[in-house]
Amino acid sequence: MSADAIKLLKPRVFDKSKWMQLPRDVVIGHDVFGQLPAVCNDLKLGRSALLVSGRGTMGLAGERVRAVLAEKYEVTPYLAGEISARVIKDAEKAASGMDFLIGVGGGRVIDTAKIVSYNLDLQFISVPTAASHDGIASARASVPMEEGHSSLEAQPPIAIVADTGIIASAPHRLLAAGCADVISNYTAILDWELAHRVKGEPMSEYAMALSKMTAEILVKNANLIKPHQEQSAWFVIKALVSSGVAMSIAGSSRPASGGEHKFSHALDRLAPGKALHGESCGIGTIITMYLHGGDWRSIRSSLRSIGAPVTPAEVGIDDATAVEALLMAKDIRPERFTILDMGLTRESAETLVQMLYKE
Ligand SMILES: [Zn+2]
Repeated sequence: MSADAIKLLKPRVFDKSKWMQLPRDVVIGHDVFGQLPAVCNDLKLGRSALLVSGRGTMGLAGERVRAVLAEKYEVTPYLAGEISARVIKDAEKAASGMDFLIGVGGGRVIDTAKIVSYNLDLQFISVPTAASHDGIASARASVPMEEGHSSLEAQPPIAIVADTGIIASAPHRLLAAGCADVISNYTAILDWELAHRVKGEPMSEYAMALSKMTAEILVKNANLIKPHQEQSAWFVIKALVSSGVAMSIAGSSRPASGGEHKFSHALDRLAPGKALHGESCGIGTIITMYLHGGDWRSIRSSLRSIGAPVTPAEVGIDDATAVEALLMAKDIRPERFTILDMGLTRESAETLVQMLYKE
């Protein structure tokens, strides 16, 4: 192109802008609750907090967190027995006028604290008592709706304080589910690349690289994931935080949630309460990895060696329900294009379930 021709071109204005909201303090390790006052002080969050915890987790960890903070902070405990619109509204009332929130518990408790903090525009500290999914560090919250649970964008925790002793003492099933949630990053990324090629959806290479690396490190060290070992808990929490950071970089859950997550949400609706979030994502990843032409057998053997289920039957779900979930998956968040949008029919879904889960 000649210099004159270039002058004729209208200059392209660079008008991109982007927010990446990341956690500020991440403290992981043995007996770390004692560091909570230092975290609160470092973040200058104020003096009063609502501590949201669950029925079992309040006694296990919530009380200890409160005791550790009692000297300098005014911490009011709030027992969230379930996650529901009623509990969220009630917790919002309890938290009004306070400076920040602390969520001490499993996924439901952390999600409740996340939603309340988002609605009240307050910061929250995530204190997970199990490493069962990447919501402990992400902006994403699973919220109860009439038609089942839906995943919404809220805000990431300002800090994560994860005690490996407490996490290692939780049932191994939870840790294995967390690993499966991380392993599902593999297919989430393949779905993102597919959406980029087919629909022109923008990609974030940084987010993809981090998400993929996190899954790779976990799979490479799958033999180190053992029940009730603090080192395993340490390892999985770091992977979950890293996945959460990948989502923060992307500004969406895309790097860690593709067709396998849509399958998981469909199963939640069709067979509520059967599988843990990460478990059904792992089971779905086997199918979507096969559809992508990837090494689905190695995904399956990693899941197995960690102790995560690899068939619907292992979580008490029959084949017919798994087929329905595969077909329903594409209608959940339909704007999120995945391999399940590439013409999957009932016959092919039935064949896949027979072939991949019976071998
Ligand atoms: Zn997930």
